[in-house]
Amino acid sequence: MANITSSLLSACHRTDNHWTGVEPNAEWVDEINRLKQERNAVILAHNYQLPEIQDIADYVGDSLALSRKAAETDADVIVFCGVHFMAESAKILSPDKTVLIPDEEAGCSLADSITAEQLREWKAEHPDALVVSYVNTTAEVKALTDVCCTSSNAVDVVKSLPEDKEILFNPDMFLGAHVKRETDRDNIQVWAGECHVHAGITPRQLEEQATANPEADLYIHPECGCANSAIYLAGEGAIEPERVHMYSTGQMLDAAREGGNNKVLIATETGMLHQLNQAAPEADFQAINPQAECKYMKMITPAALLRCLAEGADEVTVPEDISKAARDSLEAMISIGNPGSGE
Ligand code: SF4
Repeated sequence: MANITSSLLSACHRTDNHWTGVEPNAEWVDEINRLKQERNAVILAHNYQLPEIQDIADYVGDSLALSRKAAETDADVIVFCGVHFMAESAKILSPDKTVLIPDEEAGCSLADSITAEQLREWKAEHPDALVVSYVNTTAEVKALTDVCCTSSNAVDVVKSLPEDKEILFNPDMFLGAHVKRETDRDNIQVWAGECHVHAGITPRQLEEQATANPEADLYIHPECGCANSAIYLAGEGAIEPERVHMYSTGQMLDAAREGGNNKVLIATETGMLHQLNQAAPEADFQAINPQAECKYMKMITPAALLRCLAEGADEVTVPEDISKAARDSLEAMISIGNPGSGE
């Protein structure tokens, strides 16, 4: 058996930016399952992962649902198939477990849009403000945060804070605009960060697709570049308001399982279609922008997962002081009552 691993491993190699050389065939499936048992590992995969990675995972979900699975598991090793800040969150919530990510270079343009140094400077300019950070942030940024939030609980989190307190909301400007609109507060400062994938789903594409498919519902992630225009178009009567649903990825799946839609236009990363099609095979899900792919999510390839399980790489670590402060801001969110589901 070990010979199978070494022959598959010898085919693994790194191109410019990802591990490649292994096909997701039956031999690969057997080897992944055998190595997983050998390490007493659990494989968690985000909704935006490649279909073959989603299919071999023990659990598929949004970033926080997966972190909660990580905290509950009896496995010694958590293999987190997602991007780096997500694996960090799993480590923060399960500090005693070994957390591996199949490719530590899998970053996130949104998390990278604010550094701990930038947040420190912003806080210094607003010394009395409270900091609310979306979970798509590094551990260092979470450690400087009062309360974290997800796309599904951001409005509840902000509503739970004293009305007279200024709020620094980061890093996503589209989610920040959504929160400002829903809470009707004018003392929220929003950081001008964005995810290149979500920002690439444009208001024009949304309007064209919604007009061409008048019978379709729209599931829109609040981080999307088109989110504000969906609300605007619904307000103007250009799209019937009841067709527009602002959902986190977890809420999209819940809505799909409840059924009732023949056609649904999706505004988020295209990996989501694999889960939606499994949740409601009879429905017709179409991406508003079929090119909306996260290159970082797709760095978790079959070769990367094999190498990860065979070699125990790449291990995710978070220094204890940062981990504790970051855990406090995540737990402050959970204590508000709606544990939420993020990207
Ligand atoms: S889709 Fe955007 S927010 Fe999500 S991991 Fe990729 S870069 Fe980050």
